Amino acid sequence: MSAPAPPTTSTGSPAGGAHAWRGIIEEYRHRMPVADDTPAVTLREGGTPLIHSEHLSELTGCEVHVKFDGANPTGSFKDRGMTMAITKAKEAGNEAVICASTGNTSASAAAYAAKAGMTAGVLVPAGKIAMGKLAQAVVHGAQVIQIDGNFDQALTICRELAETEPVELVNSVNPYRIDGQRSAAWEVVDHLGRAPDVHVMPVGNAGNITAYWRGYREYRDDGIIDALPVMRGYQAAGSAPIVQGAKVEKPQTIATAIRIGNPASWSQALVAAEESNGSIRSVTDDQILQAFRLIARHGVFAEMASAASIAGLLQLHEDGELEPGQTVVCVLTGHGLKDPEWAMSGVDEPVTIPADLDAAAEALGLR
Ligand SMILES: *Cc1c(COP(=O)(O)O)cnc(C)c1O
Repeated sequence: MSAPAPPTTSTGSPAGGAHAWRGIIEEYRHRMPVADDTPAVTLREGGTPLIHSEHLSELTGCEVHVKFDGANPTGSFKDRGMTMAITKAKEAGNEAVICASTGNTSASAAAYAAKAGMTAGVLVPAGKIAMGKLAQAVVHGAQVIQIDGNFDQALTICRELAETEPVELVNSVNPYRIDGQRSAAWEVVDHLGRAPDVHVMPVGNAGNITAYWRGYREYRDDGIIDALPVMRGYQAAGSAPIVQGAKVEKPQTIATAIRIGNPASWSQALVAAEESNGSIRSVTDDQILQAFRLIARHGVFAEMASAASIAGLLQLHEDGELEPGQTVVCVLTGHGLKDPEWAMSGVDEPVTIPADLDAAAEALGLR
């Protein structure tokens, strides 16, 4: 890669130890469907932390890492696909984009459209969007329309609008979204120096599992890795069409980002599971909530849908389906700050004390 040499400090060592991350299109331009001179619409997404979890490793007997994609510019992995989709929409001369969203797609589309000087229209299910995600779409100037229906209905309307009106659809049925999202698999491998043995992630519309599997396979085909991971995808039990083998008309789950009854990339999710000897299974809301709290207590604040991958990991362990010493990557797809209500539910208000040293020491249990 032809990154410019990083600036050196007075001690002669590279400042920060690495070059400034340039966003996934620049970092992986030769793997992306862009010309050498296509200007990238970027907020420098990607390059997110892969964090070793001592606690989950101890619990499972594996080497567990979490890929924290909540660290992206708008707080979810959606930015990886959106930088590609908006870059291509802009290059093609579009002035407006449209999407249906459970929240994070609209937040990301709004931000990247704003960066590109384009307008974004987003259709969301009324009353089902976390406040933080809605705030993002609004603050970036998107036209937010709530529809009296669910995500699947919103997507159907958007697909039809994109066919008849002068707008580009940027849902994950837009192939550039999946292209961009492959970058997460490459980052995992570039960091570990190999593919994980087991890859665990939440599944909603199933675009992301499709993208990871394609990303891993491309690295294998290019000889960068010689083994592929087993792909383990998790839906929420109340929204598990792939597991049940039938559309769910009224999907229910506290993990709103995976509250989807008719996944757009359904068949590709099954391909990923089958080709990798993996599976698409479900975890209950109760398991998801417990996993959410567990990882937060160990330093990572991810959103509820993300916790499905940790719940899945724990279920795999309980069912004896992990081998000791395996390298496992769990994807944490979004940031917990998107929906702080969940963090605060069932928690006591912090105590209030006088502005007094002794009272503080006492309240903290230091004396
Ligand atoms: C979109 C999203 C998902 C689901 O990803 P799919 O590609 O739809 O399967 C999971 N978690 C979060 C936080 C999301 O924003």
